[in-house]
Amino acid sequence: MVDLRLRCTHALPTAVALLKDLVALESPSSDKAAVDACSAFVATQLRDLGADVALISQVSAGHQLQARWPGADPSSQFLTLCHLDTVWPRGTLATMPVREEEGQLFGPGVYDMKAGSVILLTALRVLKETGQVPRHPVCMLFTSDEEVGSATSRALIETEAQHSCLVVVLEPALASGQIKTFRKGVGNFTVVAHGRAAHAGGDHQKGINAIEELAYHIPTLQKLTDYEAGTTTNVGFIQGGSASNVVPERAQLEVDFRISQMAEIDRVAAAVHGLKPVLAGARLEIRGGLNRPPMEHNATMIKTFDQARQLAANIGLTLEEGAAGGGSDGNFTAALGTPTLDGMGAIGDGAHASHEHIHIPSLADRAALLATILMQWEAG
Ligand SMILES: [Zn+2]
Repeated sequence: MVDLRLRCTHALPTAVALLKDLVALESPSSDKAAVDACSAFVATQLRDLGADVALISQVSAGHQLQARWPGADPSSQFLTLCHLDTVWPRGTLATMPVREEEGQLFGPGVYDMKAGSVILLTALRVLKETGQVPRHPVCMLFTSDEEVGSATSRALIETEAQHSCLVVVLEPALASGQIKTFRKGVGNFTVVAHGRAAHAGGDHQKGINAIEELAYHIPTLQKLTDYEAGTTTNVGFIQGGSASNVVPERAQLEVDFRISQMAEIDRVAAAVHGLKPVLAGARLEIRGGLNRPPMEHNATMIKTFDQARQLAANIGLTLEEGAAGGGSDGNFTAALGTPTLDGMGAIGDGAHASHEHIHIPSLADRAALLATILMQWEAG
């Protein structure tokens, strides 16, 4: 039997070099040209390995990159999810250069989640070099807009997930390596209050103060929080008015909400949409809703993690689980009922922060684990 861990360890220098190149291609979600350059680079890597590659064109977001790899039993497929976009604006490398230090690799997007793409490419390289064919074909998606809510990739992700027996999300692991078996659902609402402008001195009584109107609703929104149910709401951004001597015509707020149970969306959405203007003549406009459903820690998740833990143990790795604060594309696939392993990417720390880095040896361990899963996963 092929020692996948040993083979992946041998592949580590190639993986590190590839990851450095990928991080050097800065790719903020909002910069289409930059994200497209990044996906073109990954497409070349995939073609060199022999994958079947397709770019799915997008008008304003970066192209979605899809690749397929053959497997022994085409009655089902594996789906891997990577995103190539990062939260870092172009030019960040000037202050956060790619740098290797004591077994760690630093750089913008290295942990979230360019390392994930490299882990996948490394696993495929090792399988190819050792002449092994995955149990099922592998559908790979490298998407362009995960950090901004996956608006242009969600349908593609969900379509592929529906006929997959397992989804592996190569998002970063938790800081000590646990994979993510629970994520809250995430959404937001924008509430706009429309009033009537007037001179704050001469025509005060003719004005309708939009800021005042909006303020009445903030306590209501905040009180939708229910820690026991795992629901939080946060009015986190507010703007309105133009000058202190003008009765403001318009004010708006944004509220982020997180839910642990799908049922909570009905309560939260009903309350937000049920807001009624308090001031005579004022009007409220409400937009938004749930972006990512919760990834619930249910029976499917328990069973899926258990098999992954067993396969990890077979190659001498200890796999643990934990909960993540943010959402990922794994929320979409788990909500469809497809077994989903999220946080299968590199071990490290500092996602979206200036000390973002990965623990280099984890690239090899995670590639070996992924290769093992692709070879040995038992569906159903
Ligand atoms: Zn990510």
